[in-house]
Amino acid sequence: MQPGPGQRIATAAWPCSRHAGDGAALSSDVTVKLQEYHAKTLLARAGLPVPPYSVASTPAEAWEQAAAYFDDGAGAVVVKAQVLVGGRGKAGGVKLARSAEEAQAHAEAILGMDIKGITVRRVLVAPGADIQRELYLAAVLDRTAQRIMLMGSAEGGVEIETLAEEDPDAIVKVHAHPQLGLQPFQAREMAFRLGLGDHLKEAAAICTGLVKVAQDEDADLVEINPLAVVREAGPEGPVDTLQLLDAKMTLDDSALGRHPGHEEMRDLDEEDPADIEARAADLSFIRLDGNIGCMVNGAGLAMTTMDLVKRAGGEPANFLDIGGGARSDKVAEAMRLILSDHSVQAILVNIFGGIARGDEVARGLVEARSKQTRSVPMVVRIVGTNADIAAEILEESGAEIVTAESLDEAVEKAVELAGSAA
Ligand code: GDP
Ligand code: MN
Repeated sequence: MQPGPGQRIATAAWPCSRHAGDGAALSSDVTVKLQEYHAKTLLARAGLPVPPYSVASTPAEAWEQAAAYFDDGAGAVVVKAQVLVGGRGKAGGVKLARSAEEAQAHAEAILGMDIKGITVRRVLVAPGADIQRELYLAAVLDRTAQRIMLMGSAEGGVEIETLAEEDPDAIVKVHAHPQLGLQPFQAREMAFRLGLGDHLKEAAAICTGLVKVAQDEDADLVEINPLAVVREAGPEGPVDTLQLLDAKMTLDDSALGRHPGHEEMRDLDEEDPADIEARAADLSFIRLDGNIGCMVNGAGLAMTTMDLVKRAGGEPANFLDIGGGARSDKVAEAMRLILSDHSVQAILVNIFGGIARGDEVARGLVEARSKQTRSVPMVVRIVGTNADIAAEILEESGAEIVTAESLDEAVEKAVELAGSAA
């Protein structure tokens, strides 16, 4: 569904990428967000300097893990909520402890806490870092440039979106070559521009490593905030090193098949249930903000339909491609998904029967109609293979379905019905 080089997709309704990143011109898929501890697993595996960590789901476990870090000589332990939202620190989800008992008390407070609507079920426990400086570094897929872009800022810890708005010049950007990755001179330049001249080798290795992780793992975002200069006691006095203290990663879900290990890192509890159901039913489904539910076969037809809805003054509630050759049960499942969105006020079904047979779709629609718990007006346009049988099935079913001869007519009716219902 991605456009090739030079191609353009003209739909105004097309969902733009859900995550920030100024290159995010087009994203056809739902990205999979990884919890910090999973992202850190992948980063550590790539040889990047991630401090030790463990995961606890009870205060007692947190006590045990913290006690082990203190035994190893840690001066403090940090307890961090594992939820897929930013700003956990501000929300009270990141706390430092000076003893195992204190770590346990923090875990007690954080577990079960609600952060931006998500209940914390796990905490990360790690030796507390003595932070000298916080920086920001991220590898982001820049879809417009068709390259991975490394973004860095000498000011870490703050929200990058705020910084991008207030002081865009404070963000250093460099694009990696698709085959060669980040070049050594680019990595060194980034290090210097972030004021990491004293840590040149380490910083350059981290820059190169982040881009490589993004590429190797098919991630569209690998964000380290903060990348920190951390002070540790050495045999000859204090030593400062660079460490990845926080990690946020999103994966391209279309590439999950290439990474068998990634599937089990997904946190289904924090994904949209509609996304999970769509995947299980093998449907391409993306929720949008409008109130007209669309059921279409074929991605191109789906986009065209969305364009027509917009042109007629309506707003699509979703992108949904039921795929070629969909059987009636799949159609019924798609209908259930559309109806699970309570902002949907009208449904537009646009099927071009080729491999998909009109009668199968019609049967699915009638089945879905008989089971639905919410009555929403439905406009159906089916042409092509077995369209005549489809028309008979819809007619005989007695179900409340508005049929349309042409696509324009179908769109107009759907927009009108959605408007009058609103
Ligand atoms: P976020 O708020 O969700 O981005 O969570 P972070 O892991 O980035 O933590 C927020 C802030 O807590 C960081 O910017 C640090 O200032 C602080 N913090 C996190 N870990 C440590 C640590 O080990 N030691 C100290 N001193 N501060 C920490
Ligand atoms: Mn952070």
